[in-house]
Amino acid sequence: MARKNIAAGNWKMNKAYQEGLDLATAVVDGTETTDTIVIMSTPFIHLQSVVEIAKSKDNVKVAAQNCHQAQSGAYTGEISVGMLNSIGVDCVVLGHSERREYFNENNTLLAEKVKTVLGAGMQPIFCCGEALPTREAGEQVEYVSNQIKESLFDLSAEDFSKIVIAYEPIWAIGTGVTASPQQAQDMHAAIRNLISDKYGSEVANNTSILYGGSVKPANAKEIFSQKDVDGGLVGGASLKADDFLAIVHSF
Ligand code: PEP
Repeated sequence: MARKNIAAGNWKMNKAYQEGLDLATAVVDGTETTDTIVIMSTPFIHLQSVVEIAKSKDNVKVAAQNCHQAQSGAYTGEISVGMLNSIGVDCVVLGHSERREYFNENNTLLAEKVKTVLGAGMQPIFCCGEALPTREAGEQVEYVSNQIKESLFDLSAEDFSKIVIAYEPIWAIGTGVTASPQQAQDMHAAIRNLISDKYGSEVANNTSILYGGSVKPANAKEIFSQKDVDGGLVGGASLKADDFLAIVHSF
């Protein structure tokens, strides 16, 4: 898949049903039909309706925030890829740092989930990123490279090229502290080099790598203008249509 500019909103565990539909409607209405891909990653209960709302714009896609690695079975409270596929969901966010931290998701489990999502014909948005002590020790590239290697490098080049990567330093998520444009660029370039070493430069150049961590209307343009930054995964600022649309229009 060719490299695209992407603005993805991660609503996390926010918005009652009608509030979510109002937000999605405002985002879709305010999105111009351009080459920029706009993704709304919503709680499960909103997905089916948001898929319907998003249908009017080809460049608006819908993502789940998680799924189970198995196809079906006795996993009370879980959601399968088949269920997501059956309502027209396009993408699944995997490995968000909150899933890793609070739900013990590790690189091995995420490798399974990535394969399950790809097997269902949906697009994984694979999150990676280091905590503050790792950055302070100067080990962030090694740490993030390991996350990517352990969860993604078993894939064929064809499957790998269907993946979007979101680099989200944990110290910048929900904290108001954004990585500097240079810090984002440095990590994105390192990720692209890693992909190039494994899969070749064509696959690497076609991989969309998003930055996440306190992206706001005020900083999106500068971050997105970095050579290896193809857009953002946005938490807090995706909950207000005006803010998210300003970010969508920051390329
Ligand atoms: C996120 O949840 O992926 C995120 C980056 O959150 P925020 O934009 O609020 O930092």
